Amino acid sequence: MQKVVPVDVIPVRAFKDNYVWTLRNAKHAAVVDPGEARPVLDYLSREKLELCAILATHHHPDHVGGIAELLEHHEVPVYGPRGEPIATLTRALSEGDRVSIRELGVDFSVLSIPGHTRAHVAYYGAGSLFCGDTLFACGCGRLFEGTAEQMYASLEKLRALPDDTKVYCGHEYTLANIGFAKAVEPEIGALRKREERDRKLRDAGQPTVPSTLGEEKATNPFLRCLEPAVVESANKYLGTRISDPIGVFAAIRDWKNRF
Ligand SMILES: [Zn+2]
Repeated sequence: MQKVVPVDVIPVRAFKDNYVWTLRNAKHAAVVDPGEARPVLDYLSREKLELCAILATHHHPDHVGGIAELLEHHEVPVYGPRGEPIATLTRALSEGDRVSIRELGVDFSVLSIPGHTRAHVAYYGAGSLFCGDTLFACGCGRLFEGTAEQMYASLEKLRALPDDTKVYCGHEYTLANIGFAKAVEPEIGALRKREERDRKLRDAGQPTVPSTLGEEKATNPFLRCLEPAVVESANKYLGTRISDPIGVFAAIRDWKNRF
C-alpha cells in the first residue's frame, strides 16, 4: 500500500508575485524560499504552527531575504545550494543529497538545476517539485548566471519526472507566460484551455500554481524545443535555419526577454 503523506502545501504570498510555499501538518511547517519574513511569521502565528525547516532554491534576495529574520524567531536548519552566497545556510546541498523533514514526514531529493543561477537546486518528493525560478508555469527563468546549455539540461532533467508531479514555482507569472507561449505555438488548443482556466483563477484571486509536469510538457514552449512548430517559430525569430534543441531554446529564451 502506498503511504499517504499528510502534508498540505499552502501559498504564502510575498512581495508582488512571489510564493513562499509552506508545507504543513497540524503542528509543524517548513517554508521554501522565504523572500520576506513578515507574511510567513503572520501565517505561522495565525495557524499556531512551529517552523521546523527552511529550504532555499537559489540565492536571489526575493527567495532568501526573509531567512535571517525567521531565524530570530525560530532556530531551524536552513537548506540550500552549495556554492551560492547564502549567508544563513546551515546545510549545503548538491545533486543527489536528500532532505528529510521528520516533523512533516517528508523526504526530498535534491536536483541540481543550474542556469537561472550558478547552483540553483530543486526539491523533489511526495509527488511535488519545488523548482524556484527554473521551471515556471508555462515558462522558465532568465539566464542570469548560467548558459543556455545548462538551463536546457536542467529543464530536461525536470521534464523526466512523472507527468503527475505537482510543479511549485516561485512566482505567479503564468498569464504573461501563456501570452508568450501563444506567440510561439499559436495552434495548440491546450494552451487556449489553460489560459481560460488560469484567467478565471486569477480573476478570483487564486494562484495558478501548482500545475502538473504533464501540463507543462503539453503547453510550455521551453519544454517543447523539439516540436516542429516551436522550431519553426525560433527560426522565424532568428531569421536562419536551425534545429538543434539548445539553439531553439536559446532563441525562444532571448525572444521572451524582448516580448
Ligand atoms: Zn531568481
